[in-house]
Amino acid sequence: MKQSLFYVPTLREAPKDAEVKSHKLMARAGIIRMSAAGIYTYLPLGYAVIKKIETIVREEMDKRGGSELLMPALQPRDLWEESGRWAEYGPELMRLKDRKERDFCLGPTHEEVITEAVRDHINSYKKLPLALYQIQTKFRDEMRPRFGLMRGREFIMKDMYTFSESEEDLAVWYQRMKEAYTEVFRRCGLQTRIVASDVGQIGGDEAHEFMVMSEVGEDTISYCTVCEYASNKEFSGLKKGDDCPECGGGIETAQGIEVGNIFKLGTKYSESMSATFTDKDGKRKPAIMGCYGLGISRTLMAVVEQHSSENGLVWPDELAPFDVHVVPVKYAGEAHIEAVNGLYDRLKKSFAVLLDDRDERLGAKLADADLIGIPARILIGRDFAEGKVEFSDLRSGKKRLVDVDDIETALSK
Ligand code: ATP
Ligand code: MG
Repeated sequence: MKQSLFYVPTLREAPKDAEVKSHKLMARAGIIRMSAAGIYTYLPLGYAVIKKIETIVREEMDKRGGSELLMPALQPRDLWEESGRWAEYGPELMRLKDRKERDFCLGPTHEEVITEAVRDHINSYKKLPLALYQIQTKFRDEMRPRFGLMRGREFIMKDMYTFSESEEDLAVWYQRMKEAYTEVFRRCGLQTRIVASDVGQIGGDEAHEFMVMSEVGEDTISYCTVCEYASNKEFSGLKKGDDCPECGGGIETAQGIEVGNIFKLGTKYSESMSATFTDKDGKRKPAIMGCYGLGISRTLMAVVEQHSSENGLVWPDELAPFDVHVVPVKYAGEAHIEAVNGLYDRLKKSFAVLLDDRDERLGAKLADADLIGIPARILIGRDFAEGKVEFSDLRSGKKRLVDVDDIETALSK
């Protein structure tokens, strides 16, 4: 990709409403642009990374037996009356009317729609289990939209729903999703802590949250300094200095960003909405459900928070929108431009390349490159005439001269 055509509107100053580092940087780096409070455009750089996160999520879901579908964002009131949530949900639900004055909402979550979509089909235990997921835009009129993509009113989520014939089978899916999430976040360059949590608004039997430990996180985690025990403080009430309920060790607290969660829903929706099946003994039973949410856009924000400084970021390898950023000190003079383009065409055969072909000062190009955050950079300067370029690994900060012929080898490492 030539940078002159890649729309990355970088800013010198962060917008005034940006409070945390990642939000400031995402605005300055041309990753997102606010449209209204809690509502954002994903600019090409941001959207490129969103698509990479989605690819990882799809791979990990599909590998474990998930089938992808896409449900409507616009949902009729009738369905929400069936589950009782039209009245229960409160002001976070974005409600609207169609031209015939019928009530709808913009989906904040999809338990009702998925249950309706499968209930006529799952009449026998032979049709179970089912594991269905989607990646979709959700709408929630949050009381305090803030920190950029962390708490949006419109945001991207992956939500999976499982339907099982027994508690044992639900436990299998629950464990499988725990592993899938651990792997998704690891591939996204995030270390997560799995914490026990309250089943809350959705209603159910057991729940865990995936937390990225970070001082800007809105959740407080109570964790044991001796064993693996960790819980959401809101759920356990454990304070610093309390005894660990599992080993008696000392409890500490820290802030975390919730990037995903898994719930054993049980039969709340299958009972109220009659999603029943006939078991092996001919008995009619409600399907046992699980639901598993993963914040795609919030994950992007957590990645930027964890992989950045005040002046720039370096994307984790699997999320980098390009493999290498080629920055010529000068992009002028017919012969020179031809030589640079030749190198660009050659590298493109093996790598995703961003070439800074803009007519800008070097300082401006490098400041933008630091914001864009491609982990490998090639600076084409004076030594190019002697067949050498400067290769930098942004993660280690190491720079060295390499032969033009050896660039592919250097990049493969
Ligand atoms: P929170 O406690 O942060 O409000 P939640 O319990 O409402 O989250 P779920 O309804 O389970 O979250 O949603 C699944 C995932 O979607 C969350 O783990 C989070 O990563 C993401 N998410 C939830 N609300 C938002 C939001 N307003 N903006 C961005 N991502 C969100
Ligand atoms: Mg919420």
